[in-house]
Amino acid sequence: MALVRNTKYTEAVISYMDLVRHATNTDIEKYLRRAYPTITATTVHRITARLVEQGRLRMAPAYLDGSMRFDANTSDHDHFMCNTCGDLRDVSIRDEVIPLLKKGIEGCSVNGSLVISGTCKKCNDERTSIMNITVYSTQTCPYCQMVKKWFDDRDIKYTEHLVDKNPVAAQYMVTLSGQRGVPFTTIEMEDGIVEKVLGFDQPTLERLTQQGAKS
Ligand SMILES: [Zn+2]
Ligand SMILES: [Zn+2]
Repeated sequence: MALVRNTKYTEAVISYMDLVRHATNTDIEKYLRRAYPTITATTVHRITARLVEQGRLRMAPAYLDGSMRFDANTSDHDHFMCNTCGDLRDVSIRDEVIPLLKKGIEGCSVNGSLVISGTCKKCNDERTSIMNITVYSTQTCPYCQMVKKWFDDRDIKYTEHLVDKNPVAAQYMVTLSGQRGVPFTTIEMEDGIVEKVLGFDQPTLERLTQQGAKS
């Protein structure tokens, strides 16, 4: 009975690893819990250790916090690792890099796998997803001061247009917003979407800037 259940869990670990390629015991446990609520960390540890022994999994570069990580790809390969999210990607650079490496450390033999680190595309995109913020304001309006202070406090850069001093900007704001009230803020995202915020609407500003920082 125990053997049967174990096989089922082992199959589940293999299927999961085939899907995600790289995972820690915690990742595996968390995922398998959805289908098998009774699976324990110890069981997952035992299964991954045995699969490594059997050569069905190999060790991948550790996760950012130092946790062991497993690799479904058991052939010799190298990795790109994101320093921000810890994501691993298989890369093949050894044919070009190892000859250069051998020149640099003459007499030593190279047999480990290479890990190149950096920031993955997803993490890069997250940081640049807000392109431009423009605040249309007047010199006298207290809510305009509040919007600008809100951005200043968060170190978020914006361009300001004083619509009481600049009739062209005033007209442009009316075109964009269909009204004359200030403050009026536009938040331009990298994907081309322009979000519009009328007044000092703190929840909306919060949501849009967080979205811009995360998604
Ligand atoms: Zn990343
Ligand atoms: Zn790998």
